[in-house]
Amino acid sequence: MTENTIGTAGVTLTDLGKRYGPEWAGVQAVEGVDLDIASGEFIAIVGASGCGKSTVLRILAGFEAATSGSVAVGGAPIIAPGPDRGVVFQDYGLFPWLSVKENIAYGPKRRRLPKNRVSELADRFTETVGLTRFADKYPGQLSGGMQQRVAIARVLANEPKVLLMDEPFGALDALTQSELQAELKRIHVETRTTVVFVTHSIEEAVFLADRVVVMTGGASHGVAGHVARIVTIDLPEPRDVTTPEFNEYKREISDLVHGTGDHV
Ligand code: ADP
Ligand code: MG
Repeated sequence: MTENTIGTAGVTLTDLGKRYGPEWAGVQAVEGVDLDIASGEFIAIVGASGCGKSTVLRILAGFEAATSGSVAVGGAPIIAPGPDRGVVFQDYGLFPWLSVKENIAYGPKRRRLPKNRVSELADRFTETVGLTRFADKYPGQLSGGMQQRVAIARVLANEPKVLLMDEPFGALDALTQSELQAELKRIHVETRTTVVFVTHSIEEAVFLADRVVVMTGGASHGVAGHVARIVTIDLPEPRDVTTPEFNEYKREISDLVHGTGDHV
């Protein structure tokens, strides 16, 4: 175990469904999702807009209740947001009036940890995301990529067992995206935290994940969002996006997402 290991837990989704609105006029956003995520696994969820990716993630976060089926973290049913799960969205959600270090210290402070422990966690995760030199800067003084690093560190400082990310790099330029992807990969190896990562970028999913969950359907297709296939990415690390093997995975998943494959 490395010094930065912060605990981990498996996640189980069983016949998960979510309907928005009433029975007679609502939208069945997601239906019949079964997924067993191992402790420390990196899962990516891909699919076209509206197929229910964010819905699944919000249910895992506890922001939203399932209307059928169940979800559990470390065997315990998810009924509300909890410190065992850390959530990172596309918008960084930082406190602009707090410095980088203060933003990262915010969670440990709220947990009323002893002062030296708060400081230790803040320093450690400021370093983990490579921002030690910027610890006293404010979010407004940082680039988008750096702000997202702060957002990740802030969540890690709460020592979650599961990291839930919804298109976290979607608003960043391509170069910053690939920097942060590599960074997240390193953080995952270091912390062994379970990651559930939603993206519409197939390349990002194949680069990052142990397994890619491909979702299809969605209200605009007249069928509820569901899992079309789960693809295990059997590629050596570090992954090279230029190899034929990498591109074969991209093509396979793209066919599934766009309904041009052998499924339906
Ligand atoms: P994705 O993240 O894959 O783009 P979402 O989970 O956001 O998909 O949405 C899935 C479906 O559920 C869409 O048809 C969307 O319009 C619908 N939906 C999402 N959130 C709500 C909501 N709060 N109320 C009603 N419908 C919603
Ligand atoms: Mg979404």
